[in-house]
Amino acid sequence: MNLSNKIAIVTGSGRGIGRAIALKLAEVGATVVVNDIGDVQPLEAVAQEIGAMGGQSLPILADVSSSSDVARLVEETIAAYGRIDILVNNAGIARDQLLLRMSEEDWDRVLNVNLKSVFLCTRAVLRHMVKQRWGRIISIASIVGIVGNPGQANYASAKAGIIGFTRTVAKEVASRGITANAIAPGFIDTDMTQRLKEEWKQELKRQIPLGYFGSPRDVAEAVAFLASEEAGYITGQVLNIDGGMAASWL
Ligand code: NAP
Repeated sequence: MNLSNKIAIVTGSGRGIGRAIALKLAEVGATVVVNDIGDVQPLEAVAQEIGAMGGQSLPILADVSSSSDVARLVEETIAAYGRIDILVNNAGIARDQLLLRMSEEDWDRVLNVNLKSVFLCTRAVLRHMVKQRWGRIISIASIVGIVGNPGQANYASAKAGIIGFTRTVAKEVASRGITANAIAPGFIDTDMTQRLKEEWKQELKRQIPLGYFGSPRDVAEAVAFLASEEAGYITGQVLNIDGGMAASWL
């Protein structure tokens, strides 16, 4: 796998899965625009790590659920590098609550950050990818979007939406040399899952055929492959990375 001369944007890459994806893409030669919403310090730390391995990166703070922020993210990337080859729609949040108690605000925020962001970022980069006649769109969904999960009606709906969106975009842009795929992680060891109660984590591990939570690196390896030249005939797909968890339900 060699992504030299490729320019990638990875949303939500200050920590967790996004950070691992940014580091992996840089390891195989891509120049990586790292993004998150909060503090610039974690982004600069990722950029420094990439620099230490001899790579190039650019940290840009932006809220990917805001169309003006997304426009700026893409404009600054184009101003710096002149092209965008790879978009990884990774930024995501969870605001869990049983449906009867779920507020409209938590519904809207989760849909905006997890799904609207994928629409905004993909639409913004596609213009450039179409001109280049090459591109890779990889969006991080979740097995929850396939099998559902109590307490996550907002999150599951957003992740299921990403899957429908991905299959549609794949068909719309296939003739332009652009692929669109989704990855559906199961339970991955990050801040998002560290919040779960210990006994619930043990119960989940009993439901995972491999018996443990995945690591951000497990997801990053697959993203790097889907971003590569070698994955050019794969489009409109959803790849579960879940230790076999969904296989026991579907
Ligand atoms: P995480 O550790 O909570 O990290 C989320 C990242 O997204 C952070 O860098 C955060 O920035 C950023 N972010 C949040 N809202 C944003 C916004 N509006 N604009 C830009 N960046 C934003 O999450 P993770 O576990 O790595 O999850 C990454 C992706 O994988 C998400 O889409 C998640 O739904 C999905 N996923 C995770 C798991 C899992 O088990 N962990 C399973 C399935 C799917 P700040 O640090 O500034 O808040």
